[in-house]
Amino acid sequence: MSALNLRARQHLVGRGESAKAAPSTRAAAALRCSAMATKPVVLHLQSLPLEPRAAEDLHSKFENLFIWEQADPAAFLAEKGASIRGVVTGVRPWVNQELLDKLPNVEIVSSNTVGLDKVDVSLCKERGVSVTNTPDVLTDCTADTALALLLACMRQIPAAHQYVCDGRWPKEGDYPVTNKLKPLVLVTAEIMHLCQGLADLSSCLYGHSICAMLAVVSGKRVGVVGLGRIGAAIGKRLEGFGCPISYYSRSKKPQYPEYNYYNSVVELARNSDILVVACALEKATTKIINREVLDALGPTGFVVNIARGPVIDEAELVKALVEKRVAGAGLDVFVNEPEVPKELLNMANVVVQPHVGSATYETRNAMANLVVENLVAHFSGKPLLTPV
Ligand code: NAP
Repeated sequence: MSALNLRARQHLVGRGESAKAAPSTRAAAALRCSAMATKPVVLHLQSLPLEPRAAEDLHSKFENLFIWEQADPAAFLAEKGASIRGVVTGVRPWVNQELLDKLPNVEIVSSNTVGLDKVDVSLCKERGVSVTNTPDVLTDCTADTALALLLACMRQIPAAHQYVCDGRWPKEGDYPVTNKLKPLVLVTAEIMHLCQGLADLSSCLYGHSICAMLAVVSGKRVGVVGLGRIGAAIGKRLEGFGCPISYYSRSKKPQYPEYNYYNSVVELARNSDILVVACALEKATTKIINREVLDALGPTGFVVNIARGPVIDEAELVKALVEKRVAGAGLDVFVNEPEVPKELLNMANVVVQPHVGSATYETRNAMANLVVENLVAHFSGKPLLTPV
């Protein structure tokens, strides 16, 4: 039996299909178990925040190798790669052909993410490597983050907070709302003139805040791009704000008859005040929010992105914000994390966060538990909890 076939068979065992497996498969697995009485070796590409029980499981059941502890990761992989049977990964490292070629005996990739844009899932499947992710446990938290970003950018909460902290309220009066008497461009030009020569950044911030619109959230038309688990949880929350919900997905969802379906993102944007992006990052969704979509949303529209940076054409979004072709944005994710385009940093109508959609203690623990439980299940021949 070739090494690949053996791995493919072990993959079936790991997926809990052992009941149907042929005797030779079980014999091969038993042989392997006795041959490898030592603990399975697991390579960690990104650290896990672990509760004591999960930490105990991880350390008692596996030999753990941490890539970030290696002075020369390439030499380390050349030496240890063949012994590695499990991989723990996260939002940043790539699990691609380059890595998989160095791990000829890997059986499972357990990802501490729901999005698998950094894992070559097709290649894993081709090679009989199981892949698991962390769906559901992060849905609420990430949907909460989308709502927080939406409220924060539309009501300019960070800039207004800064206004109070800087002691400007008693000196300069109430925080400004849009000057309805003047067209936006005139106000912009006026403020640019006023701000000329002022080195004080907070003055510029104030200028921006006058230029930008403070917009009401309740009742606004919301368009969700990707009505999956998180997209649907965002819709549910916004129903509570009296917002009519529309969505774009690859297909219409009969389970949401009260939501309008658009089979074009441009049409969705044209009929929305707020566009919330919650789709998976794939080839087909890369830059799905492009200039045409942003222009369809228009100068009173807001964009919120809690999916992945590359689903938006970031350069076009920056241009649209600078040129006031869209009203504002709430962004948790970026194309070149942790780098964020500098133009986004001083706009009162733009709120940025360092990819913290799921980053609460409770959620991150639940995700890490799943990562470990999937490894334990795989190496004890039980069904995986969250196979992809
Ligand atoms: P999910 O239930 O699998 O939903 C994925 C959505 O993406 C589905 O609505 C799906 O559309 C859509 N989609 C996938 N491929 C598409 C394509 N080619 N064209 C159009 N739509 C496509 O996943 P989820 O749990 O909601 O998570 C969604 C994403 O959120 C993850 O992939 C991840 O990148 C991101 N996320 C970010 C954070 C954060 O910290 N910011 C945290 C968690 C997750 P269909 O409805 O047509 O299937």
